Amino acid sequence: MFINGAWATEPSGSEFEILNPATGGVIKSLPDGGAEAARAAIDAAAEALVTWRVTTPYQRAEFLMRAHALMLERQEDLAKVMTAEQGKPLRAAMTEVKYASDFLQWFAEEGKRVYGEIIPSARADQRFHVLHQPVGVVAAITPWNYPISMITRKLGPALAAGCTVVLKPAEATPLTAVETFKIFEDAGFPPGVVNLVTAGDPKPVGEEFTSNPKVAKLTFTGSTAVGKLLAGKAAGNMKRVSCELGGHAPFLVLKDADPVHAAKGLQLVKFLNTGQACISPNRIFVHRDVLDGFLDTLSGRVGGMKAGNGMEQGVTIGPLVNEAAVAKVENQVNDAVAKGAEVLCGGTRLTDGDLGQGHFFAPTVLTDVTPEMLIYREETFGPVAAVVPFDDDDDVLAMANDTHYGLAAYVYSQNLSQAMRLFEGLEFGIIGINDINPASAAAPFGGMKDSGLGREGSREGIHEYLETKVGGFSI
Ligand code: ADP
Repeated sequence: MFINGAWATEPSGSEFEILNPATGGVIKSLPDGGAEAARAAIDAAAEALVTWRVTTPYQRAEFLMRAHALMLERQEDLAKVMTAEQGKPLRAAMTEVKYASDFLQWFAEEGKRVYGEIIPSARADQRFHVLHQPVGVVAAITPWNYPISMITRKLGPALAAGCTVVLKPAEATPLTAVETFKIFEDAGFPPGVVNLVTAGDPKPVGEEFTSNPKVAKLTFTGSTAVGKLLAGKAAGNMKRVSCELGGHAPFLVLKDADPVHAAKGLQLVKFLNTGQACISPNRIFVHRDVLDGFLDTLSGRVGGMKAGNGMEQGVTIGPLVNEAAVAKVENQVNDAVAKGAEVLCGGTRLTDGDLGQGHFFAPTVLTDVTPEMLIYREETFGPVAAVVPFDDDDDVLAMANDTHYGLAAYVYSQNLSQAMRLFEGLEFGIIGINDINPASAAAPFGGMKDSGLGREGSREGIHEYLETKVGGFSI
């Protein structure tokens, strides 16, 4: 753990193990921090806030830019740690480190553009001046699927805004967080500005984060169930909350779409991170006129993927995070098949040879998926493309919106009017139009409905860490 500028162990000596999901082996043990460690970290952050909040955005940008440069310098080492504990192929881990570094750079710059406002008053003797100030101590909780970019997407804007931070990373992937904090240490952030509490059991730390009066803001990325639980507790203590939660992205391939282009895009985005992404397509609606071309291309490409240990050359898809994740995927596939879905490729666990030691499921394509199936409603978080054929473009908007999630959606169409109609009508925060990567440090990321509160990245992202203050001046 990293508290008040120094590396720390848990006073009780308690530790937890971090496993490699490709091999089942133990990589390392880390301190199992509890409420006491969280309290110490929050105290340090509260003390550091006094001086950090009054530094200039130019000074804060210097720290962030040093961290940005170090992250790129250490890109490969960070990626190797990430692949070992999370499973994604090394190339994907390298891409994620770059994406993570983007948030440090973007918010270093954006911190300089936190403009106020002067508002004319109805009274001749009055002036309104509006300014934005750091919200205070931020408690951050991050997930295991994107172990580094979810950290910088929160800490970048928080630090640029003048807040101090305590982070609790996911118990499956804290080693990447430790390496990230070595970067913050080497970038010279003053003691207490950034703090890390690792924990095998997240509950005591979560309790402290949501109840400690010194915490002003909770920012969380993870499941909708845990997000609602923590947001509820934090709201009870009137803390500011941002949540980036689950999704159930529709992927719409309309009558006039190029089915080959759409299938190539789908294969890339669906199987990224072994399907373990909140913006992963979960229901793939394909017009029957283009269905055959779409399925041929998709099955061909998915059938050619190579599952394995992400450290090995040529591996294009890694393991799932743990056995529970494999069991969930298997259950959704079996349920779909029992209710009439057809398996075009994959469909089972992978247990041959070394794969048997890890948590592997074959990249799978299902078609004839219907609303009665679990996969149509529940987030899969696994490598299964569930295709739902449809007959009329006019019906597909309502079908796509028929979910309590609202994070990402994708539309493939060559018809500008259709694409615009869907862009405006879809109840999702992030829409890819003939595009599978609508995420960037420059673009707002976040969801509607049960997918969360607030936006990360973009110029909006920093405002999640700022309060608005107005001064009425009588002259
Ligand atoms: P996932 O299903 O992606 O594992 P979780 O919501 O369980 O999502 O985990 C996301 C993050 O939330 C992790 O850092 C995890 O440790 C943390 N977390 C899970 N349960 C709690 C809890 N009760 N209190 C605080 N943090 C929690």
